[in-house]
Amino acid sequence: MNKTLYRKYRHMKGRCYNPNDKAYKDYGGRGISICDEWLNSYEAFEKWSLSNGFEEGLAIDRIDNDGNYEPENCRFVTAKENNQNRRSSRFFTINGQTKNLQQWCDFYGIERGAVNTRLQNGYSIEEALTKPVKKGKDKTSLIGKRFNHLVVVGYFEDKTPKDTNPRWICKCDCGNTTVVTGTRLKSGHTKSCGCLVSSSARKRMLTNNPMKNRR
Ligand SMILES: [Zn+2]
Repeated sequence: MNKTLYRKYRHMKGRCYNPNDKAYKDYGGRGISICDEWLNSYEAFEKWSLSNGFEEGLAIDRIDNDGNYEPENCRFVTAKENNQNRRSSRFFTINGQTKNLQQWCDFYGIERGAVNTRLQNGYSIEEALTKPVKKGKDKTSLIGKRFNHLVVVGYFEDKTPKDTNPRWICKCDCGNTTVVTGTRLKSGHTKSCGCLVSSSARKRMLTNNPMKNRR
């Protein structure tokens, strides 16, 4: 007998059928049950587990969180994957309304991945759902757009993770390629690869320098 699996089996039974189990309210209390085959035979559960990816350290996970413990609805996952799945089925009450996480994400029109990350980082559920998603994540919005002499051709992947200002690869009218932050492009601060600056600087120098003008 596999001791780890047997322990998992007893805990699974407790969650589903023992009202004194501290997790019962989230399992048996919600109508989650174990299929007859497994309920009546630990050996059947062990046999299924060993031929369906069980390894030491993995947790049994129900694919549909409202579904039962049965072969079609179970798999072995890492503890992290299991937590993510469980979190998505957690219920949250906001302003007196209760929904699961997916429903709240749909309600606020935000991606669940972003919300999961925020919850992992200690945000409250309200913050996680309502804080605007940073525009820096958008890697296509400026592509094809022209800013003076520059046309954006691609998003520049940050090699320095601390720098959060998104940068864009731009093709200049002169043929050069340059990388500019979205902020500088939109503000008009950067108008070219640098060729414009140097040519206008040259012009300024020519017009402001009486010595050169005289030539
Ligand atoms: Zn240029």
